[in-house]
Amino acid sequence: MWQYPSEMEAMEDALRLARGMTYKYAAAGVNLGGGKTVIVGDPYRKDREPVFRVLGKFINRLGGKYITGEDVGTTLKDMEYIRMETPYVVTLPTYLGGAGDIAPMTAFGTIQAMRACAKEIFGTDSMEGRSVSVQGLGAVGYNVVKQLSELKARMIVTDINAERVKRVVEEFNVRAVPPEDIYSMGVEIYSPCALGATINDDSLKKLKCKIICGCANNQLKEERHGEQVQKMGILYAPDYVTNAGGTIFDTDRLGVGGVNHERGKEKVARIYQTMEQTIQISKQEKIPTYLAADRLAEERIRKVAEVKKYGGELDPMF
Ligand code: NAD
Repeated sequence: MWQYPSEMEAMEDALRLARGMTYKYAAAGVNLGGGKTVIVGDPYRKDREPVFRVLGKFINRLGGKYITGEDVGTTLKDMEYIRMETPYVVTLPTYLGGAGDIAPMTAFGTIQAMRACAKEIFGTDSMEGRSVSVQGLGAVGYNVVKQLSELKARMIVTDINAERVKRVVEEFNVRAVPPEDIYSMGVEIYSPCALGATINDDSLKKLKCKIICGCANNQLKEERHGEQVQKMGILYAPDYVTNAGGTIFDTDRLGVGGVNHERGKEKVARIYQTMEQTIQISKQEKIPTYLAADRLAEERIRKVAEVKKYGGELDPMF
């Protein structure tokens, strides 16, 4: 839900986001993808129930071909309003049969990708003693720091929100720096966990790391930055591979009878192998990793299209 300047921009964003979902799920091996809703409206609007119940009614008419979830500008409470009108909403609190807060699983997935990258660059996937800079200490970033700290990594952190920095510094053995200094830290791994487009002309002049692996969406400002990163000898973990953990965990319950923490976590852990495959394709085809991830996703889309040709409709709730 966003205050788009025009309907055309909203449509463009919906198409871009829908494509992103297809690639994210295809690369993760999840049998979903291809759709996204945008609502043109104020994300801070107060009276939300009518909006989300009307949306729920509309989604219900699609009979399960489209299942929605929480994202930018919406909350878990909004999903509850949608649930009043349709079962086709996946992100829900636990008391309604959903997985609840998925940020810890997004962080867990990001760290699996990070470990696979470390194995490639340093020959070991142990995070013990590795130096990591974490940019953004929100829902996911906080959990990245928490989990990396359990793995005994050394961290430098930043956020534009002083409260969030204070909490992390008090809870974990980390050092904080001002937001503008984060790129020039001499660390092995840079983990962008704030907003998008942080891999750009400016940051690439400052980065000294060997690996970029974070949860933020749309990290490359432009595709050419993905090429540039490769030329600089930095291993870039493509964002939709690294940040799929939450949604893999969230959707795991569909078609298999509810949330199962162990099974969901096991599926998220496979991000390690997806990252390994991405690196493999990148090396074999001599292409940047962001393109290698696309190849991986496109190959799966092609294979599943073959299955559909012989099998008719797929179960919408699977
Ligand atoms: P969030 O809003 O909880 O946290 C983002 C944090 O980044 C905030 O604390 C904010 O103050 C900080 N920030 C913003 N600009 C900054 C800057 N210039 N320097 C330093 N810090 C800055 O969001 P989140 O849910 O933790 O998501 C983080 C990123 O991960 C987003 O790009 C999101 O799209 C992506 N993502 C999140 C999930 C999820 O499960 N929440 C899943 C997939 C992708």
